Amino acid sequence: MTTASRLVFVPSANIFEAPNSWFSRIALSQGATVGELLAMLRMKARDADFAFLSQETQEAAMALGIDLRDLKVACRVFHNFLRAGLEPRRFLLYEGQRPSYRFCPHCLKARSEPYFPVHWRFACWRVCPLHRCVMCDSCESCGMRVSLPRSMIHAGPKGEGVAYLSKCLTCGTSLAAIKTTPVDSFPGVVLAAWERELASNGRAVLAALYTGFVYVSADGPSRPLRKLAELERRGVIPNNPRFLAPERLIERFVTAEAIQASS
Ligand SMILES: [Zn+2]
Ligand SMILES: [Zn+2]
Repeated sequence: MTTASRLVFVPSANIFEAPNSWFSRIALSQGATVGELLAMLRMKARDADFAFLSQETQEAAMALGIDLRDLKVACRVFHNFLRAGLEPRRFLLYEGQRPSYRFCPHCLKARSEPYFPVHWRFACWRVCPLHRCVMCDSCESCGMRVSLPRSMIHAGPKGEGVAYLSKCLTCGTSLAAIKTTPVDSFPGVVLAAWERELASNGRAVLAALYTGFVYVSADGPSRPLRKLAELERRGVIPNNPRFLAPERLIERFVTAEAIQASS
């Protein structure tokens, strides 16, 4: 990957896919590292989830036969995020300096070509609405969080490569096989009503970033996106990592299961 010829066998993007996810998959499809791909895309910023929006990168990608507009949701959400002037370190997940993601094992398992969607990058996206489970923070086997983009060609425990994003890129274990905490089991025990409400505010943030408007109440007026920063300061957006911390939830779930079994 040293010349700017059009790439072949580029995997299709899912419209919900995060740029960092797609770039990881594209690099693998070309037998290249992510660094090589990002250099060809003339991406200068560290975080490709934002850097893909630059005119220079859009043109470089088009010359390679990659249409970054295929990332339809990412284009709107990250554009609106920048427009709203929100603080990335408060709203997005990072592992050190690297972009990081939570994941739903059931979603990863259901996809023939696993990918990480935009909303899994957001600190406030705490519950998978499709599978009604708490999002996972890290690999169960090695404890590592998912950081993307990453060179899949050199991933895995021996650096021999990992073919799918449904596997941990550090130890190779399936992320799709992790047991989740269902939010609808043992109502009021595993998740209190206020926790469910706060978690649903997380989904509302993504809806706001997609539509470009914030609705504080169902029948109230729309507010500009910068309102999100104020709501975050007021503590009504579940960005705090201690909220729904996995170890505490598992403890509650196991206790509730034990109580049910003994009754
Ligand atoms: Zn799911
Ligand atoms: Zn692992």
